[in-house]
Amino acid sequence: MKKVFILAILTAVLLLASCQMWYYDLIDLTQPVTGAVIDPVVQTAKKAKAAVPEPESTPKEPEIPEETAASSEIPAPEPEEEPEEETTAEQPEETTGPSAAAEQPSPSIIPTTEFAIAAEQQPQIIIPATEFAVIPQQPLTEAAEPPPAPDAVRSENVPIFTYHTSAENNPGRLHEYYVKPSEFEKQIKYLTENNYTFCTFNDWYEIGLHDIEKPVFITFDDGYQSNYTEIFPILQKYNAKITIFLAADNVSAEGFTAEMIREMSDSRLVKFESHTVNHVNLADISGNDEGLTSELEDSKHRIEELTGRRVLALAYPGGGFNAKVIERVKEYYLFGVSTIYGFHNTGRHSNFEIRRLEVNRSTSLNAFISMLGG
Ligand SMILES: [Zn+2]
Repeated sequence: MKKVFILAILTAVLLLASCQMWYYDLIDLTQPVTGAVIDPVVQTAKKAKAAVPEPESTPKEPEIPEETAASSEIPAPEPEEEPEEETTAEQPEETTGPSAAAEQPSPSIIPTTEFAIAAEQQPQIIIPATEFAVIPQQPLTEAAEPPPAPDAVRSENVPIFTYHTSAENNPGRLHEYYVKPSEFEKQIKYLTENNYTFCTFNDWYEIGLHDIEKPVFITFDDGYQSNYTEIFPILQKYNAKITIFLAADNVSAEGFTAEMIREMSDSRLVKFESHTVNHVNLADISGNDEGLTSELEDSKHRIEELTGRRVLALAYPGGGFNAKVIERVKEYYLFGVSTIYGFHNTGRHSNFEIRRLEVNRSTSLNAFISMLGG
């Protein structure tokens, strides 16, 4: 009985299987015509196929925002043009570089991503260009004078005047630091008419070694645009020499450009000396050897590179110095200039504690003359 039952089942299974095969053959034939009749198995296969393009399209999506992000940075070319003009103006030798860049396809043709890169690279090119990198280094035209034998220095009182900035009208908040150019001219005129000799630190030893008649020093601290716009024309008019103690970081700050400094220095009417890099009180950082080195050495190098002239002197910002500062200043300079008030005596006072006489906005011509007589 069992065998008969098993045989019956097997027969039934075979029959069903053959029917199924025929059925699917029929489906395959009819498929192109009647898609609606498709077996659920085929339908799920189709769904799976239809699902494939979806994941394919998703990786594309992140690419689209990238392009739009890049295209949103298209305005970048505008600032690019300005530095090109600056560099060509400052350094004619290098015109091949920037002009070749100018011959590149117009902004609308260049892929947007290139602009993004160019814009990122810009600051690295511009910042040094306006400071020192673009200015051709001049060979130093002067050697530091060898220190003279101490007994060769004659004892002499030398008036060394201190100024800062100037404005005829509407001076800034620090009113007294703004000397009127018209008053400054009266002072220079007086010194000229009374046969004073305008000296810089390059002349220092001559004061002791030779008979320079009535030596006088005019010094300006910090470095301001007004030194060029207001003071320099007066110096040219009277052929008067001055010293500017320049904080190296003041170059290009507030309109006092490297070109102005070069023009003044090249005229030989202005000698630039150091006032550190950042105008820091050196006494405050005298425990920091690296900080001192940076302020003393970097400022000297930067001003020498800019002017092509040897830097001999440093004025202590804020008048701050101590024994440790003097010890370090001697490594780089021949003179340390203080704000101690009074005549400097070449025989009695140290060359690293040079004294000065400050002139302010309220200093009248009579007061100025009496300072000379003191
Ligand atoms: Zn200063």
